[in-house]
Amino acid sequence: MSRKILAANFKTNHTRASTREYVAALDAAMEKMGYGGETYIFPPATALDRFETKNDIRVGAQNAYPTVKGSFTGEIGLEQLGEFGIETVLVGHSERRHILGESQAFIAQKYAWFKEQGFTIFYCIGEPLEVREAGDEAVRRYLVEQLEGIDTAYSKLILAYEPVWAIGTGKTATPDLIETTHAMIKRFSDRPLLYGGSVKPANIEEILSVEGCDGALIGTASWEISSMVSMLEISEKLKTKN
Ligand code: PEP
Repeated sequence: MSRKILAANFKTNHTRASTREYVAALDAAMEKMGYGGETYIFPPATALDRFETKNDIRVGAQNAYPTVKGSFTGEIGLEQLGEFGIETVLVGHSERRHILGESQAFIAQKYAWFKEQGFTIFYCIGEPLEVREAGDEAVRRYLVEQLEGIDTAYSKLILAYEPVWAIGTGKTATPDLIETTHAMIKRFSDRPLLYGGSVKPANIEEILSVEGCDGALIGTASWEISSMVSMLEISEKLKTKN
């Protein structure tokens, strides 16, 4: 088994100071365990920075506006990201779709623009509970709609399947459900496909072992450094075990 991609989404948690401490602790832990791969962290916009690390810790923006700069109150653009060398962005997260009301058309525009800039794009898709309850075909249709306007062959795309009903709820999709849904999504893209939705130290081994799961996008359980380090350790052991 090759090394999995692990990414931490801080959402609206952590400050500039605590992010700095977190990155230093993560770097030290990666050094100690001899972790040879890359890890991504998505801190809040106020904590974006250039971090001097010995290990490959990539910092991404949870959100940005498709512009270099301009009059988009409350947003940040390429100029602000460039100051810190940020070249990774999260697009299509369910909280931006459902709480902030981003439409598929706007998400696709954002995706295309950051692709044009050569960014690594973590692109999230996932169905709400009522769609899951309506059956596999309803899920397939819903997810296909979330891929509308998205270049799924983009070489710097990392996909994340995150069922909305599993995000921040403590409910995790079963390995079987992850496997069948990932197999379906993989018909549309051969890019790495992560799972996200209440991943934590207690279930990450089972999730990363699912056929077709290339890693995990982790919210809640990534906020505590000790929990994130445990998950990296489990992932590293899995890699050497297989
Ligand atoms: C997320 O927000 O991407 C996520 C997967 O959150 P959580 O791990 O808290 O479910």
